Amino acid sequence: VKFDDLGLGEDLLRAIGDAGYETPTPIQEKAIPFVLMNRDVLGCAQTGTGKTASFTLPMIDILSHGRARARMPRSVILAPTRELAAQVAENFETYGKYHKLNMALLIGGVSFGEQEKKLDRGVDVLIATPGRLLDHCERGKVMLTDTKIVVIDEADRMLDMGFIPDVERIVSMMPPLRQTVMFSATMPKEVRRLADKFLSNPKEVTV
Ligand code: AMP
Repeated sequence: VKFDDLGLGEDLLRAIGDAGYETPTPIQEKAIPFVLMNRDVLGCAQTGTGKTASFTLPMIDILSHGRARARMPRSVILAPTRELAAQVAENFETYGKYHKLNMALLIGGVSFGEQEKKLDRGVDVLIATPGRLLDHCERGKVMLTDTKIVVIDEADRMLDMGFIPDVERIVSMMPPLRQTVMFSATMPKEVRRLADKFLSNPKEVTV
């Protein structure tokens, strides 16, 4: 299987080529077509398998077909740690280099001012840790009512770090009619419960 076979647009294939990737990894091969079809996906994959690209690539494709720089974010990626969120953001920039999508990285340890300036300009995607995103919501700087796609990355680590209540609050602010993608390295009961609650008729992909 080649990247060309997965249904991604030309600009993405060019960015993938620039990154030096030759073939999709197994999780990419399995997940990308379903995310592109707007299906809910429950992915079981560890770090190092290429899982980040398996949701960022199709997200960029989907977002590129909609209205850019809407007033409210059209998509949200939640990650358990600042480092992971920053890594996802880096991936998003690498793969999205030929698209004009606006991204805001909302993590702790950075001043609210800078992040709010970004938000005021309108963003297509928020990449955030749960606590900082909730802070912005409470300050009235973020509205999640226009979210079309949400990704919950490393759900099992969210669980270990006690972030599940925050994630539930965040997702409850989103419209019920949306696309939800969840990734986890392991599938403990609590992660299953969360998946049952947030995903509808999900396609399960495992590597
Ligand atoms: P991840 O599992 O998302 O943390 O990705 C692990 C590493 O694999 C990252 O450094 C990616 O840049 C790289 N990577 C992702 N997809 C591919 C691919 N199809 N071919 C080669 N490297 C890749």
